[in-house]
Amino acid sequence: MRVSVDRSRCCGAGLCAQDLPDVFDQGDDAVVVLLDEHPADELADDLDDVAFACPSGAIRVHRD
Ligand code: SF4
Repeated sequence: MRVSVDRSRCCGAGLCAQDLPDVFDQGDDAVVVLLDEHPADELADDLDDVAFACPSGAIRVHRD
């Protein structure tokens, strides 16, 4: 499983960093920073939820 973010779309709402702080953070400009491109498989459902909830559609979850 791989996660990607489109930093050009992120509006800095911060939901992802709040819900999965081991995977996502925010920079000084509030734009998302991806901490872990290959999160553990058990986080798959949580990642789907965060990707769905992201108001910018900036998060993609790729299943290999
Ligand atoms: S939830 Fe989406 S818009 Fe909000 S910080 Fe994360 S990537 Fe950016």
